[in-house]
Amino acid sequence: MLNGKKILITAGPTWEAIDPVRGISNHSSGKMGYALAEQACALGADVKLVSGPVCLPPPEDVETLQVLSAQDMLAAVHHQLEAHSIDVFISVAAVADYRPAEIQTQKIKKSADQLTLKLVRNPDIVSSVAALESHRPYTVGFAAETENLETHAYNKLLNKNLDMIIANDVSKPDIGFGTEQNQVLMITREQKLDSGRLDKSTLANTILLHISKHLKT
Ligand code: C5P
Repeated sequence: MLNGKKILITAGPTWEAIDPVRGISNHSSGKMGYALAEQACALGADVKLVSGPVCLPPPEDVETLQVLSAQDMLAAVHHQLEAHSIDVFISVAAVADYRPAEIQTQKIKKSADQLTLKLVRNPDIVSSVAALESHRPYTVGFAAETENLETHAYNKLLNKNLDMIIANDVSKPDIGFGTEQNQVLMITREQKLDSGRLDKSTLANTILLHISKHLKT
């Protein structure tokens, strides 16, 4: 189904260092991105995975690049796009929106009662890919929402200029972050499809099948 297609996937959280021992991150397990990488490979694609720090073994036969920060992830993604002609970019990573303005070179000592951290915005990786003027891959984003799932996800599709957005409701404790099962809406400008509740590898297959229908042969 994906024979001859080159697919680049980001997965996991990013780690934004504060000092040599501390940082800002989030609870993304990387399971969905890794399941997509594995399934895409099983479906015949040539898969590259750019992963933030997760506790998962790299999928077999998938070239996996480990990164920490959003800036590292951005550089790795654009390096892959330049080195290979990527057909599909699937941005599953839960990229930190902000990073500390400065990384302290020494461990911060506790002395004052209060400590203020200055944060600056991180680059939006999927938007930077969707904005490419040449060799722009079919670009798929993910939207984890706690309310108004469809509206928020559709606005993200438009604002980030994506071809498809995979939306999931993270307010439900039994699906989403860190869980075994998930249920998503697959939204394009023309169509909205509910996956139903599935385990993450079956869901990965469903998403890839849906993406493949939108690719030029
Ligand atoms: O804006 P929000 O973080 O909700 O958007 C989620 C989508 O955007 C995901 O596909 C995520 O991988 C991507 N994203 C990104 N770079 C960021 C923030 C989000 O690629 N800095």
